[in-house]
Amino acid sequence: MEEGRDQNVRLGRLAATGAAVECEVLVIGGGSTGVGVARDAAMRGFSTILVERGDLATGTTGRFHGLLHSGGRYAVKDPQAARECIAENMVLRRIAADCIEDTGGLFVTTPIDDPDYADRFIAGCQETGIPVEEIPVAEALRREPRLNPRISRALVVPDATVDAWKTVWTCARSAMEHGAKILPYHEVIDVIRDGDQVTGVIARDQDGTDVQIRAQVTVNASGAWAGRIAAMADCKVQISPGKGIMIATNHRLVQTVVNRCVLPADGDILVPIRTVSVIGTTDITVEDPDDWAITRAEINQMLEAGENLVPGFTSSRALRVWGGVRPLFQDHAPAESRDVTRSHAVLDHRARDGVGGILTITGGKFCTFRLMAQDAVDAACQVLGVTRPCRTAEEPLPDSQERHFYQLGSRLAERERTLLDEQLICECELVRRGRLEDEAARRPKPSLDDLRRAVRLGMGPCQGGFCMYRATGILHQTKHLSGAEADRALLAFLEERWKGYYPLLHGDQLRQAWLDNWIFQGVLDVQHLPLAGQPRQQETAPGPAT
Ligand SMILES: Cc1cc2nc3c(=O)[nH]c(=O)nc-3n(C[C@H](O)[C@H](O)[C@H](O)COP(=O)(O)OP(=O)(O)OC[C@H]3O[C@@H](n4cnc5c(N)ncnc54)[C@H](O)[C@@H]3O)c2cc1C
Repeated sequence: MEEGRDQNVRLGRLAATGAAVECEVLVIGGGSTGVGVARDAAMRGFSTILVERGDLATGTTGRFHGLLHSGGRYAVKDPQAARECIAENMVLRRIAADCIEDTGGLFVTTPIDDPDYADRFIAGCQETGIPVEEIPVAEALRREPRLNPRISRALVVPDATVDAWKTVWTCARSAMEHGAKILPYHEVIDVIRDGDQVTGVIARDQDGTDVQIRAQVTVNASGAWAGRIAAMADCKVQISPGKGIMIATNHRLVQTVVNRCVLPADGDILVPIRTVSVIGTTDITVEDPDDWAITRAEINQMLEAGENLVPGFTSSRALRVWGGVRPLFQDHAPAESRDVTRSHAVLDHRARDGVGGILTITGGKFCTFRLMAQDAVDAACQVLGVTRPCRTAEEPLPDSQERHFYQLGSRLAERERTLLDEQLICECELVRRGRLEDEAARRPKPSLDDLRRAVRLGMGPCQGGFCMYRATGILHQTKHLSGAEADRALLAFLEERWKGYYPLLHGDQLRQAWLDNWIFQGVLDVQHLPLAGQPRQQETAPGPAT
């Protein structure tokens, strides 16, 4: 199924009654984490509302690199994150297949990399349960001919690419099917507290109307903005927003996700996404997730990095650069953004700040959003004093029930299934190819004259001059007529037509007849069609003499 967005989704608005709306679980943030939480909570039977200040997936989720990590990237440095990635990679292949293109992944040692790191990489993968296989360099170059021919090692892992928007929209649809209300363009401007308990929020909608939403538990899933929401409740969450940029080129330069086989670094991954390739990324701590810039130096750095993986990269057309901000969280965070764990954390603010009724889910990766949601809703269950099992690892998303991965050619295949049906065969009478084929299929041996009466083929001003040779070709292509039968059918039609033409040959009608003659004699040489079992036609064909 293409694009989840328009499939019966009616996103909510709250009636402007002035009264507070109530729910059990309120989710702040409509990125992958937030919609994951909303879906999970709704599937466990909680009345659920999600608020997002913009459209869904317009935060970091809509601005990421598109990689469904195998975990290989973290296998040496961040084994906990690596284990989570490979486990969730396998779960998402089961439940969200329609959102995934199974490209596979390669880790390659380029001329500027330490070749011994590949041994540590293999050991790290084995330790964290990531399937890994070293293949000969020649085989890697056969699979990816544009790759730097000077690579010295190549390792295969189950990386893939994932469509953020499809995933988020189908999660939102599923949440709504389970009763959740999803409210984009509702910005939380304040948190409501009753003593040491958070009891809801005030959200401002697109028209500037403030609505009160009361909740038994509020889940702060606002990514890089989580510190701000927490502060509204007098709680503390120290996020270090890690900015990264990516550049898309106008070609799909590789078919596989290609990573440099090194500790996570800048510009070390090239991801084929649909018809383009995306090189990324950087990691620079910024003060404000809403206020940062992309520098010329970063762009140059990415282009050079692409050149190292795929020589000639810089001569492809760079289409667009964009950036996102990682919601990196670690209590006592290290100085370097790259050193913060890519694992996630659920923060219970009663234990941390003495404020009940609010949880923060933060850190993590796009590819671990389902697990993050599960952990957050497990914690919400504890706050609500109930036990309800999570089902999101088993129940597929809408459109993914068939468990077919997305294929690059699927849009074209979908289009081509009916494309020819719409082709006009007769412009005078607007006869579609599909209509002609349906009518022909009803008859054991269709004659063109029968079809003329049935669908008005050749009845209009050109009298078959423009449509009859096309119709004949189609009847042959669709195996209704053999080659010789098609030739005979065309001649029979023209002879029949000629009878009505001949007595009226003057003025414009004579001009039309000459045009038809040019088409049938001049282009198709109908007088000399090879009719099986008969000598080539001699001077018997219809129409004015050439
Ligand atoms: C450059 C880069 C590349 C990445 N590449 C990958 C990758 O290849 N694979 C991978 O798995 N992960 C990747 N990640 C990480 C991944 O993108 C993030 O971890 C993930 O998308 C975070 O999702 P989220 O829902 O937690 O945050 P977000 O998507 O940012 O969602 C938070 C939402 O909260 C909303 N919000 C904020 N304030 C308010 C408010 N007051 N009221 C209402 N709503 C509010 C925001 O508008 C936002 O939509 C990458 C990250 C970056 C930056």
